[in-house]
Amino acid sequence: MGSEADGAVDRPVVVVRSAAMARRNARELADKVAIVTGGASGIGKALGAELCARGCEVVLADRQGDVVEGVAQGLRDEGNRASAAELDVRDLAAFQHVVAETRVRAGRVDFLFNNAGIAVGGEIDRYRPEDWDDVFDVNLRGVAYGVQAAYPVMLEQRSGHIVNTASVAGLVPSAGEASYTASKHAVVALTRALRIEARRHGVRASALCPGAIRTPILTGGRFGRVNLKARPDQLMTLWEKVRPMDPAVLAERAVDAVLRDEAIIIEPRWWKAFWYLDRLSPTLSEKLWSAALDRLRADISRFEAEASGTNGAHP
Ligand code: NAD
Repeated sequence: MGSEADGAVDRPVVVVRSAAMARRNARELADKVAIVTGGASGIGKALGAELCARGCEVVLADRQGDVVEGVAQGLRDEGNRASAAELDVRDLAAFQHVVAETRVRAGRVDFLFNNAGIAVGGEIDRYRPEDWDDVFDVNLRGVAYGVQAAYPVMLEQRSGHIVNTASVAGLVPSAGEASYTASKHAVVALTRALRIEARRHGVRASALCPGAIRTPILTGGRFGRVNLKARPDQLMTLWEKVRPMDPAVLAERAVDAVLRDEAIIIEPRWWKAFWYLDRLSPTLSEKLWSAALDRLRADISRFEAEASGTNGAHP
């Protein structure tokens, strides 16, 4: 212990505890079971860790089988109840199998975080047909299949909560990623309809709408792509302008909001301004997103010019 004599002054230790930390200590989800898709990376991985920290039993499901097994093993090594399932959310029978297997083994399914997603960046004039199919199949069909698999179990239980990861791009017209913004609008609509239908059965539904979160999807991710001649580090300089949030911070706030049964969860909170503006004045919102797209086009043409050795002047 330090003393004034040896130059180190003892000071009272101030422990700052957030409300979430207190709830973790109470292990408030100790009797709950959650399935998280896209659990191998980014937001899904962070949601898995956050749920485990609150005592929940977690099944991490992901198309990247080896990676998700490693993530679950890491959580088990820390004393948590976590397992992994290799799952492609585009396969309804496989999704139903994961849900059924979880129910048999753990006795219940309290949460489904329908979180797996991909993005294709770039304007429509550069699209190939598969840029629509790939995004709709994972982001919309995969979420619908998750509902199809888990909702009947929750109806039987007369309890449960389905949390579909959409995006702020599901609330505003995010030009420059049309298939993504279209799929996420559909996820928001699906979730809101489900929420209304499910209430009388004791089942809940929420849409998680993140702004920019620091994960691999920002530069294409494992199964998505960016149809632009820009390097990942160049793309990240653009994302840094909107200060991407750490996925662990998002996960802590998102789980708090889910437990409050919020219908639409937007984090970082300042991104709510875009949604409010879009509802208040769609015309003004369109102008804002047009200006953002103009700036993006200028940046991208500079990157592409750098790559081809020209001066990058934007017309
Ligand atoms: P990420 O790339 O880090 O993780 C996505 C995960 O989904 C990966 O582990 C991937 O293997 C998995 N996946 C992809 N296709 C799959 C499939 N067919 N079946 C099963 N798993 C599959 O990206 P992330 O940022 O963590 O994305 C998670 C969710 O959050 C996505 O729905 C994404 O659209 C959404 N989101 C992300 C941001 C952001 O800024 N990072 C913002 C808004 C919304």
